[in-house]
Amino acid sequence: MTGIEWADFSGNQWIGCTRVAAVAGALSGCDICYAASYAEQRLGMAWGPAAPRRFVTGFGPRMARLNRLAAATGLGFSVFTLSLGDWADTDVEPAWRGRLIETIEACASLNWLLLTHRPQLAKRLLPASWRTTPPANVWPGVTIDHALHAFRWGKHADYWGHTGRAWISAEPLVGRLSGERFDGLAGIVIGGASGTRDAAFAFDSRSVLDAVDAYGEERVFFKQHGAFLDGRHVGNKKAAGRLLGARTYDNTPWPRHRAALAAARSAASPE
Ligand code: SF4
Repeated sequence: MTGIEWADFSGNQWIGCTRVAAVAGALSGCDICYAASYAEQRLGMAWGPAAPRRFVTGFGPRMARLNRLAAATGLGFSVFTLSLGDWADTDVEPAWRGRLIETIEACASLNWLLLTHRPQLAKRLLPASWRTTPPANVWPGVTIDHALHAFRWGKHADYWGHTGRAWISAEPLVGRLSGERFDGLAGIVIGGASGTRDAAFAFDSRSVLDAVDAYGEERVFFKQHGAFLDGRHVGNKKAAGRLLGARTYDNTPWPRHRAALAAARSAASPE
């Protein structure tokens, strides 16, 4: 399972990425990328255009096993990929992306949460058949972490809008998106930055209610305040929590089975 609350599992066909430059005047989550910190500090990897990506050989077999479990139980687990990279990274071996696509197509019982900062590359990098008939279990997400990056929605919706499954990851969000309109949005995950002391990344929790007003509560998942609460640095995302007005916002358009998985794990490892 993953610690990322809006998915059941995360997985990576490779590890590594190149930061996407922010539009002038915006901040970007790439500048405080968790995956980069994890790779550099825990895996001893370099990050960026010249840094070699690391292929994960066990990814395909693990996903195949998970797919069999999903088919046997009828639980369409949601898998976030890539959590330590970007599927549309053009500095990765094209054959590796091919392996990822093969795995997605072979694992039809899983719900695939494909997230990118680079929606303009979908047409170039994905199979031609996906343009008209992408797999029904793919949920394509685009990161919009600042209002000045809202233009990415148009590029994303241009490719995926007809599926009705396109969603936004507004995390870590800086500022508000209340002036933007994302037509056809299936869902939005909103959250603040963790792992930084830079007050410029402090989360404005009014963004959650902005989204509820604009798209309905059933489309909103509030992940976390992040390292700041009401503009004050409180240490980390656990300290700040994910309550807003004494409640959570927990809706995703894709199914999640975290409670069933936690119960199964607990039953398998009784104290
Ligand atoms: S695109 Fe994603 S994985 Fe790549 S550097 Fe930016 S935040 Fe990190």
